[in-house]
Amino acid sequence: MADMDKTILSVLAHPDDESFGMGGTLALYARRGAAVHLLCATRGEAGTVDPQHLRGFSSIAERREAELRCAAEKLGLAAVYFLDYRDSGMPGSPDNSHPQALAAAALDSVAARIVPYIRSIHPQVVLTFDPIGGYKHPDHIAIHRATVKAFHLAGDPAYHDGQSPYLPQKLYYHVIPKGFLSFAVRVLPLLGKDPRRFGRNQDIDLTVLVREGNFPTHARIDYREVAQIKDEAALCHTSQLDGAGLRRGPMRWAQTLFGEKEYFMRAEPPAGKGVREIDLFAGL
Ligand SMILES: [Zn+2]
Repeated sequence: MADMDKTILSVLAHPDDESFGMGGTLALYARRGAAVHLLCATRGEAGTVDPQHLRGFSSIAERREAELRCAAEKLGLAAVYFLDYRDSGMPGSPDNSHPQALAAAALDSVAARIVPYIRSIHPQVVLTFDPIGGYKHPDHIAIHRATVKAFHLAGDPAYHDGQSPYLPQKLYYHVIPKGFLSFAVRVLPLLGKDPRRFGRNQDIDLTVLVREGNFPTHARIDYREVAQIKDEAALCHTSQLDGAGLRRGPMRWAQTLFGEKEYFMRAEPPAGKGVREIDLFAGL
C-alpha cells in the first residue's frame, strides 16, 4: 500500500490527548504521507487553566481548541473534528454531572456520532485509548468504549445512517507499557514524589495503573525522527503545562530511558501471542 493511500483515524477525548499521548505516531505517519485524522470528543472544558492563559479567549473551550489546532498543524494532521461533548473532569468533580458530559452520555449515542466519521473518512487504522483510558480518566474510558462499538457498527450493513458500511482493517489501543509504570512507581518515591498522587493535578494513582493497566503490546512505534515535532505539538498546549515545560520532571527522564517509542495493543484483528509489529499498517 502506498503511503498516500494510508488513512488513520484517531479518536480521543480532550485537546492535548493527541500530543501528550500518541503524538509521535500521528506525526510519523503524517510525515510519511498518510492522511491522519483526529476526532476529539470534547474541548477540554474541565481542564485547569491559569487565568493568564484565558486572555483573548472567551472560554477554556475556546483556548483549548486553539491549542489543539496549533498542535494539529505541528503534527501534520489532515483534519480535526469535534464531537461537541463536554469534558467530564476527573471522578468526583461536579463536571461529571453536566448534561453534556461525555462520561454521562449513553454509549450507543456516542458510538452513533463516531460511525459517520469512520464511514466517510475510510481509515484502514483506527486508534483510541486502552480500556482504562491510560490513567482512568472517565472521558478516556467513555471514548474507548464508544470507539470500539463504532468500529464494528461502521462495518455492519444492518446499521443504517445514510452512508455505506465501511469496516476499518485494524483497531489499536494506545497503552503505557507496564514496565514503564512499575519503573515510575519505584523511582518517584526516591525523588520525594508520591506515585499515588501523580500528575499536574495530583489525581493520578500510578499504583492502580500498574495493577489494572496490564495490556499486551503488539506494536511498538519508534518516533525518534519526529520526536521534536511531538514536543512542539505538546508545547502548543501551554495552558496544560506547568512552568517546568517538557524537558524536565521524572516522566521525562523515564521517557529518555525507555526511548522515543509509543506502544499499542492490537484489538482488531485480534492478535495472538508473539505479535510484534513496528508498523500499524503491517500486513495491509
Ligand atoms: Zn484527556
